[in-house]
Amino acid sequence: MQRNSFLARLNEWLQPELVNDYCPNGLQVEGASTIQKIVTGVTASQALIDAAIAAKADTILVHHGYFWKGEAEPIVGMKGKRIRSLIENNINLIAYHLPLDIHPEFGNNAQLLQLLNIHSSSAIDLPPNGILQLGEFAEPITGTALAQRIEQQLQRPLVASVHSDSKINSVAVCTGGGQGFIEQALAAGADAFITGEVSEQTIHVARECGIQFFAAGHHATERYGVRALGERIAEQLGIAVEFVDIDNPA
Ligand SMILES: [Zn+2]
Repeated sequence: MQRNSFLARLNEWLQPELVNDYCPNGLQVEGASTIQKIVTGVTASQALIDAAIAAKADTILVHHGYFWKGEAEPIVGMKGKRIRSLIENNINLIAYHLPLDIHPEFGNNAQLLQLLNIHSSSAIDLPPNGILQLGEFAEPITGTALAQRIEQQLQRPLVASVHSDSKINSVAVCTGGGQGFIEQALAAGADAFITGEVSEQTIHVARECGIQFFAAGHHATERYGVRALGERIAEQLGIAVEFVDIDNPA
């Protein structure tokens, strides 16, 4: 498929123009003009690029690309090496950040709820950048049971603040570095909040405001959006797609 038609299709699905993001969404580094083999992953790290080169991919599609607001601009050091590897191997780098968190179907939030077998209810818009997805349990569940379910599905230990005496009916989800949205989760009336990362103060807010809190890993909570998007691409556009999980404990 031609790169430009491919990008047009992705933009149609993900509607990046609707969000005000911290990085450019779409094509970040230009490579081959025809797309035949895509490697997807969470972050465009050197390890992912090396895996794409080994897989003879012409395109890398990620959630965390490059050129973040506020980062140093010169293309030197680690950043220089990554971009040089892409250009020397004629590999496109395509990244979607917030559009791939909030998409109702293959967004990280929606995918995480689905993985945890929680029914997605409504999304809460937090202009300009954040969004929480609310979910509801068919049967109220204890914090301990939810912690076990998350650990089982994501295959890693959690940082959690659980109140053993109250059950959870509703949960707010914001994958990745979403710990700052705990107050919005409270304001939305959620009994629990699941995100990727935790700060020291998050635990105090959880304890003092009575919301059960689960930090399940930035990487671990953001594996599922780009993977689902890759599956959709393979299915509908007939392009070979391989998801490569470069594990990250954070
Ligand atoms: Zn992230």
